[in-house]
Amino acid sequence: MLLELRDVSVNYGPVAALKNLSVKVEEGQIVTIIGSNGAGKTTTLRAMSGMLPVKSGEIHFEGKRVDGMAPHKIVANGIAHVPEGRRIFPDMTVEENLRTGAFLRKDKAAVEHDLRDVYNRFPRLLERRRQRAQTMSGGEQQMLAIGRALMSNPRILLMDEPSMGLAPVIVEEIAVIIEEINARGLSVVLVEQNAVMALELASYAYVLESGNMVLEGPAVDLRDDETVRKAYLGL
Ligand code: ATP
Repeated sequence: MLLELRDVSVNYGPVAALKNLSVKVEEGQIVTIIGSNGAGKTTTLRAMSGMLPVKSGEIHFEGKRVDGMAPHKIVANGIAHVPEGRRIFPDMTVEENLRTGAFLRKDKAAVEHDLRDVYNRFPRLLERRRQRAQTMSGGEQQMLAIGRALMSNPRILLMDEPSMGLAPVIVEEIAVIIEEINARGLSVVLVEQNAVMALELASYAYVLESGNMVLEGPAVDLRDDETVRKAYLGL
């Protein structure tokens, strides 16, 4: 198992946001967590990347316990987070934003190699490398946020609603990018309100409601599940 949450609970003060969550991600898999507003999807990713402390339970990555580890150590171990709303640095150029993703890495040659790799994957970022990030479109900013995460040379990518606020044709483009990244061996945890996209991309899915995991299974099965179809697919 690459990443595993065992009975993880997270609180915001007295309020329980996640209740005894167990999630497993295998090497090379795309796993999705779907759920409506406020279900706890973002909280789950923030716990995985060490930005929120767990109240109880354990998080293991590549056999190592990572809950309680500082966020930068978790990045160095190979977990990269593409946050909700992209969180790029608006006044910095595209290339400066990309380089922040590699700030922990010491091997300069490898960083330059990965930068070229990101530019190969996202030619639009290469064209706009000297442009201030805030002047980019929503889709380009999402690509930048993904590119920046790739610059840390991760084993797993945690993606928080990459489709948010984007036109359907751009959502398609992002979906293809996620598939390509995964095809090159990177595991992905995809959090989405766009359950249609998420269940198409993922091989395994979890459904979160008010901090509880209420359903899980192969994504194809959840696509056919009556409750999921009514509540999340609008069918
Ligand atoms: P969305 O899709 O709307 O982003 P989500 O599934 O990602 O929702 P979370 O953002 O994880 O949900 O929030 C889970 C619950 O925790 C919600 O009830 C939310 O109001 C609460 N919450 C989130 N952040 C905080 C915070 N900083 N302080 C207190 N409560 C919070």
